[in-house]
Formats: sequence, structure tokens, C-alpha cells
Amino acid sequence: MEDCLFCKIIKGEIPSTKVYEDDKVFAFKDINPKAPIHILVVPKKHIDSLAQLTDDDKEYVWAIHEAMNKIAREQGFIEKGYRVVINCGKDSGQEVMHLHYHILAGKKFGGNDTGF
Ligand code: AMP
Ligand code: ZN
Repeated sequence: MEDCLFCKIIKGEIPSTKVYEDDKVFAFKDINPKAPIHILVVPKKHIDSLAQLTDDDKEYVWAIHEAMNKIAREQGFIEKGYRVVINCGKDSGQEVMHLHYHILAGKKFGGNDTGF
């Protein structure tokens, strides 16, 4: 999508620190990390949010989950654990309207401590 920040990052029009890429998924470091490790994982297809998912998006959702496992293994936090957060819509505080999964790792989180 033309005016979407994350579409521009996927295309390389805006720089990012890439962590992982395959044909369906792109992952990069969050510019304003809320944990020692904070990675954003996005589908290469523009999807506004969880609320706009359709049947056509199934392979992207699965690809994101597979990619998160690979990232957690490669980055070495799969054993210690990590938190995954998805904001959806206004009340959640979603700022960028391109579906993204936040992976937060590198510290021990409290029960209600999402950092958001
Ligand atoms: P959300 O509030 O769930 O929409 O999350 C948007 C996230 O995108 C925030 O954690 C921001 O820090 C992050 N962000 C915004 N601009 C950039 C950028 N240019 N590169 C990397 N992360 C960004
Ligand atoms: Zn987009």
C-alpha cells in the first residue's frame, strides 16, 4: 500500500535493521524498543490489522508463526522465552495500520507488564 510505513520498510524505501526475511514475511528491529530485544514481524502482503484478516491471509498468518519460531531459535531466546503482542485498533494503541507482531525478549516480564 502506497502510504504505509511498513510497506515502505518491506520494499527498502525506508531503512530498517532486518532480522529475517522470506517470501511472505519481513522482520526488523523496533525503532523504539520496549525490551532488550524488540522485533516486529510483518506479512509482506498489506493487511490493516487482525480485524481485517480473510481466508486469503491464512498462509501469511502461518508463515509469521513459523518465522517467529525461526527468529527465536536464531536469536537464542527460544529456551528462555519471549512475549508476543499484537495491537488491534484504536483502543489497543495500534499506531501503524499494517498487521505486525511484536516479539519482546531479553528480560523477565511481569504478569501484566507488556510494556505497552
Ligand atoms: P503499534 O503501536 O502496535 O502500532 O506498534 C508500532 C511500532 O512500530 C512501535 O513499537 C514503534 O516503535 C515502531 N516503529 C515505528 N516506526 C518505525 C520504524 N521506522 N522502524 C522500526 N519500528 C518503527
Ligand atoms: Zn502496509
